[in-house]
Amino acid sequence: MMKIILLRNAYDFINEALSNALKAETENIRWKYAILNLVQAIELSLKEKLRREHPILIFQKIDNPKFTVNLDTALNRLQNICKLKLSKPDIAAIKKAIALRNEIIHFEFSIDKKKCKLIFAKLLGFLSDFNLNHFGTPIDQVVDPVHWQEAVLISDYAKELFNRALELFKEQNIDDQFIWVCPNCEWETFVFQDEIDKCYICGLQEQVIECYVCKDLFFKRECHELEIQNGSYEDFCLECYEKTIQDDEIYYHEMMSHFWNK
Ligand SMILES: [Zn+2]
Ligand SMILES: [Zn+2]
Repeated sequence: MMKIILLRNAYDFINEALSNALKAETENIRWKYAILNLVQAIELSLKEKLRREHPILIFQKIDNPKFTVNLDTALNRLQNICKLKLSKPDIAAIKKAIALRNEIIHFEFSIDKKKCKLIFAKLLGFLSDFNLNHFGTPIDQVVDPVHWQEAVLISDYAKELFNRALELFKEQNIDDQFIWVCPNCEWETFVFQDEIDKCYICGLQEQVIECYVCKDLFFKRECHELEIQNGSYEDFCLECYEKTIQDDEIYYHEMMSHFWNK
């Protein structure tokens, strides 16, 4: 019973998403709903996967099965309990869905048509693959054909922009190892070669810096500044930042206990 409900609801949300995307052509605000609908469909699809592993897994508290899990927990359980091997882009798509829902709910989401279409295409692509691979359902067969036209248009638009970016990479000799997934549009088109630091599809400009400790490269927005000497600050990646702070605290406590013991 639950099976029918979860998947049918997921497909309803995909239909709703496409219907909103259609209306968004003339009414920009609809992009918010279209993207939220897709996030909802992703959540329901992951829950269905959990349910097929074991029905109790879809509940937040397994000894008090009242509320069902959120996306974070669903992702966690699929990876750690069900040992589901998700690809890096799949994990990125799910995490993006979580972030988008938060942004939209907290009014931090800015509607830029191009960005919205690119994100929409990414999330829909993930949903198509996930439903086909895990449930054997091609989603073009479960959504309204008129709506599916819109899905094809949006993904063609995104693919065309992506192919144009690929051509530029060739022309400008951009090496694959200097390309990341863009945190704005979610396509693998963010170039940090030669300090270009720019997405070739959506145009996001974002500084990339080296962590003071591990020397790996990170977006500056993900890093934290720490004072290493009087008045001199350096950028630390989150992991190195937390480790440094922790070491400082341990050192402080050891030093203090040394005083107290005397
Ligand atoms: Zn981008
Ligand atoms: Zn680091």
